[in-house]
Amino acid sequence: MTEAPTSSPTVVIGVLALQGAYEAHARTLRELGAEPRLVRTPDQLEGLDGLIMPGGESTTMLKFLERNGFFDLLKSFVQETPTFGTCAGAILLATDVENPPQRSLGVLPMTVERNAYGRQIDSAILESQTELPGGPLEMVFIRAPRIRSTGPEVETLASRDGSPTLVRYGHLMAATFHPELSGDTRVHQFFLETVRRHKQAQATRDSA
Ligand code: GLN
Repeated sequence: MTEAPTSSPTVVIGVLALQGAYEAHARTLRELGAEPRLVRTPDQLEGLDGLIMPGGESTTMLKFLERNGFFDLLKSFVQETPTFGTCAGAILLATDVENPPQRSLGVLPMTVERNAYGRQIDSAILESQTELPGGPLEMVFIRAPRIRSTGPEVETLASRDGSPTLVRYGHLMAATFHPELSGDTRVHQFFLETVRRHKQAQATRDSA
């Protein structure tokens, strides 16, 4: 286990744990000195500094979210609080979903096409240049969506064959790959920086 960075205050990060690859995210967060909390019910969104929505099956996640007003609460939450969606989680954040169209939280301006890489090459491990410091980034794709277009203020941090694979839009981030499955923790680190900046800005606002 890596030593937790000592200089930054601990942040509490929810990991949506309705279905899918949430355990590996929790492990990576813990390694980086953050406190992960599994989120299975709407009340568990309370008190979080940020949220990760993992990969899995977005249609199944939507079914769970449609109970107990979870969808609407989550929508308000992601409008205010740093949230990182990976793969199925990215699909949930997008404003537009294709193949087939489906409901989403609609907060990150991008069009995503589900299962866009066909059956033959539906899973792959690739390396790509990235805007993140530290050289090429390993990306694990599993029945991945493709980001077909992004709004003007969406930043692309990595891509695959000209399509963005890692994007940031203010306090929101999305990846079409699974950063929790490679040994490289830079993507989670980058998200935690966003969370800490957001938390500090909020504390400054609250004390003004
Ligand atoms: N194919 C899944 C979906 O459409 C996403 C795959 C993943 O999260 N690895 O929801």
